[in-house]
Amino acid sequence: MSDDQHSGAPLRLFNSLTRRLETFAPIHEGEVRVYSCGPTVYNYPHIGNMRAYVFADVLGRTLSWKGYKLTHVINITDVGHLTDDADAGEDKLEQAAAEQKRSIWDIARHYTEAYWADVKALNIRGPMRAGKPEAAHWSIATDYVPRMIEFAQGIAAHCYELPGGLYFDTSTVADYGRLARASTDEGEGRIDPVEGKRHAADFAIWRRTPPGESRQMEWDSPWGRGAPGWHLECSVMSGELLGFPFDIHTGGIDHREIHHPNEIAQNQAFCHSDASGANIWMHNNFLVERSGKMSKSAGEFLRLQLLIDKGYHPLAYRLMCLQAHYRSELEFSWEGLGAALTRLKRMVMGTDRDDLRSFTGAGRTAEWDHTEGTAAGDDAIARLDDAISDDLNTPKALTVLEETLANKTIEPFDRWRVLSAFDDVLGLNLIENRRGDFRVRPIDSSVTDEEVSAAVERRKEARAAKDFITSDAIRDELASKGVEVMDGDPLGWDWKLS
Ligand code: AMP
Ligand code: ZN
Repeated sequence: MSDDQHSGAPLRLFNSLTRRLETFAPIHEGEVRVYSCGPTVYNYPHIGNMRAYVFADVLGRTLSWKGYKLTHVINITDVGHLTDDADAGEDKLEQAAAEQKRSIWDIARHYTEAYWADVKALNIRGPMRAGKPEAAHWSIATDYVPRMIEFAQGIAAHCYELPGGLYFDTSTVADYGRLARASTDEGEGRIDPVEGKRHAADFAIWRRTPPGESRQMEWDSPWGRGAPGWHLECSVMSGELLGFPFDIHTGGIDHREIHHPNEIAQNQAFCHSDASGANIWMHNNFLVERSGKMSKSAGEFLRLQLLIDKGYHPLAYRLMCLQAHYRSELEFSWEGLGAALTRLKRMVMGTDRDDLRSFTGAGRTAEWDHTEGTAAGDDAIARLDDAISDDLNTPKALTVLEETLANKTIEPFDRWRVLSAFDDVLGLNLIENRRGDFRVRPIDSSVTDEEVSAAVERRKEARAAKDFITSDAIRDELASKGVEVMDGDPLGWDWKLS
């Protein structure tokens, strides 16, 4: 990648705050600072949650690829998020700890690690990618509680105390809820059960532990022992780690209604400014599933590991996400996932060629990095740039990728350069993965790949010798183990597990 790549197609992004596509201009020359609302670690993330991080990852990859120095912070919420976003209910982590009879710190650690495992499996750049640059910085909410208390003291003029704790008076900032109104034309209209609040939309900055009760996670504060309100952490960590104003703030569309309007109100109070704290607010639409299996509260819910256990490569789910524009709703179905897997296999087929391989990995010399690209290769990269710069149009970028794979006029040495660009932006790892990596292999299958390969080899020999009795016997034996032999499969697979 050349240093001046951000002089390619201008990057246009949809800003939820202005409801418009805007041409991105960084606050600091050559640099971009992004904050993404992260997971609440009281349970495993479902695949819908992971859509939010695939989206944030594509944004981060695009910015890096275009040549910006990226600072990307994603937070881990291990305190303060109640079962209802509007300040009602119990703390999600306290509730999970009580139900599972485990310490809250245990719960947080366990589910943070589970989240990072999904991050890694989906090729989202992050701390788990050993040996590669860490693209995202993960900040843990409980590490910032003293800073949250200082921040709350700084905005005290906008707050008032109730028996339940410290509350933010939303009438004290300009145009409260404009982000929510931008999306729903309603805003502020939610019912709120806390008694004594001045306005329905006012929200907790600090939640005092009720007398006679104790919580596993609580801290002393000027407003009594208790815990921070959920919205506080994001204002504190984004301001501390990125500085106000920073470039881009992301999250799922549910955050457009309560969490982000409240973050904005806090930022306004803290900065003594009407500005929101970030230049662009971006929101991914939801992944939906008709049977309701996605809910974390349902027994077997749709988490990435379930897809993997059923034999689907996690990158098939990543591709499924990329097939929809991030602002469109995406419906999950197993058929859809199967189709994405097939599409991914075809792409890997188009990449997995010996002539290309000879230009990758250990066999590649520095000389090739400096070889002039071909016009056809430049054109493919320019079309990728146009698609991704158009508000991260990943469906279009995928089409360009397929056309590029089919374009035989791109010389092998240049295919490596071109496909690296697609891998950098889309994160499908086409160059590193082999066809065999995408074989459907449910977790409950008992045969090993070596066993199957040996049997398939023996069967080939039998067929070559026209010994069809032996070849049929081997096929039947494999079938009894759940292995389906696929003669003449157009995708070049010899077999799959069914
Ligand atoms: P949570 O762990 O509940 O705080 O959510 C983590 C992220 O996932 C947030 O950015 C949510 O907005 C987002 N999110 C929640 N459900 C979905 C869904 N079904 N599809 C896409 N994003 C979601
Ligand atoms: Zn947040």
